[in-house]
Amino acid sequence: MNLSETVESLKDEMVKAMVEMLRIEAISPESGGKGELKRAEFLEKWMSGFGFDEIKRCDAEDSRAEGEVRPNIIATIYGKNRERTIWVISHMDTVPVGDISKWETDPFDPVVRDGKIYGRGAEDNGQSLIASMYAAKAIIDSGMKPDYNFSVAFVSDEETGSKYGIQHLVKLGLFKKDDLVVVPDHGVPEGNEIEIAEKSIYWVKVTTYGKQTHSSIPHTGINALRAGSRYLVEVDRALHERFSERNELFSPPISTFEPTKKEENQPNINAVPGEDVFYFDMRIIPEHNIADIMGLMNEVAERVSKETGARIVPEVYRGEQSPPPTPPDSEVVMRLSRAIEKVREIKPKLVGIGGGTCAAYIRQAGIPAAVWSTIDETMHQANEYCKIENLVNDAKVFALLGFRQI
Ligand SMILES: [Zn+2]
Repeated sequence: MNLSETVESLKDEMVKAMVEMLRIEAISPESGGKGELKRAEFLEKWMSGFGFDEIKRCDAEDSRAEGEVRPNIIATIYGKNRERTIWVISHMDTVPVGDISKWETDPFDPVVRDGKIYGRGAEDNGQSLIASMYAAKAIIDSGMKPDYNFSVAFVSDEETGSKYGIQHLVKLGLFKKDDLVVVPDHGVPEGNEIEIAEKSIYWVKVTTYGKQTHSSIPHTGINALRAGSRYLVEVDRALHERFSERNELFSPPISTFEPTKKEENQPNINAVPGEDVFYFDMRIIPEHNIADIMGLMNEVAERVSKETGARIVPEVYRGEQSPPPTPPDSEVVMRLSRAIEKVREIKPKLVGIGGGTCAAYIRQAGIPAAVWSTIDETMHQANEYCKIENLVNDAKVFALLGFRQI
C-alpha cells in the first residue's frame, strides 16, 4: 500500500474521530465557553496508541478556563534529519453556535449525511485537525521515516486572539528558523489556493470634539458631526491617493480603507452635537506601513481641525503590521504545491488574504508559513459541515509533505 492508499484505508476511523471530537465543546471563555481542556484530553487519548515518538502538552495558564489552562498538544514523528521539523498546525477551539434556530441538526451532536459531517467546528478547524492527525498515523503505519521531524500541533484560542495558543508556542521558542510550517485554516472549494501573505489589519477610531449648543443657534457652538464628516471624506480621499500601490497576490489587489461603525452622538435632534465618533477598518498590503497611514491621518486631522475649529483625534483601535510574505520559492511552498498537484491533479496558485490566521505569528518570528486547505467555506455559519472527501484528500497531502521523493 502506498501512503495515499493507507490514508484512504483510515477513512472510517477519521470520520469516527471527527464525530466524537465534535461532541465535546471547545469554546473560548471570551465567547462564553469553558475552553478546550476536555477536547484536548480526548485527542491525546485518541492518538496515544498511534505510535508517535513523542506527545507533549504546552499549556498556557488561564484562570477563566476549565482546569485553569488553555491546552496545546504537539505530537511528533522523528525524521531522518531531526534538526528540522515539518509542522501542520490546526486549532481546537470553535466559535459559538450562533443563532440555534438556523441549525437543521444539533451542532454538538454531529450528523453524517451525503458525504458530509455536520456540526460546529467540522470545517473550522476540525477537518484539518483530524486530517493532520491521520496523515501522521498513515506515515507511522507505512513504516517510512519522514525527511524531517513531522509534528502536528493542536492549539487553543485561535478564534479569540491566539494569546494562549500559537503565540504561547512561539514564545516558548518551539519553532526554528529552518522549520516548515503549514497552517490549514483557509481555503477554497477547489483546493487550489496557497496563501502566503496576509494584509495588515488596522482599525482606527476617530473622535471629533466640538461644542454642543441648541441647534437653532448653531453659530454659538461647533458641530462635531459636520467636522467629523468633512474629515471622513477628506481623509478617505487622501488615503486612497497616497497609498495606491497594488499587489496582485491579493483580491482586491489594493489597501482598503473603509469607514464602518458610527457611534451614536446624542439621543436628541435639537442640539448641535459636541462629540462624534466613527471607525475605519483598513486592510493594508505589505507594501504600506501602518505608521505612515497614521501619519497622513494626523496631517489631515490637523488641517481640518484648524479649518473647522473642532478637534479631530484619530487613534489606533487595533493594529498589527503584517509580516513580510512567505517567499514563493521557500521549501514549504514547494513541498505543499507538489503534494497538492500529486493528490488533486491541479496546479495551485499563490494568493494573499485580507484576514488573519496563526500563520501571521509564525511569519512574524521569521519562519516561512503556508496556509492551505480544501473547504466549502461554511465556517462560523449555521449548518457548518466538512466534506469527507476533503478530509481524506487533505490528509493525503499532509502525509506527502513529509517526503521529497514519493
Ligand atoms: Zn479557523
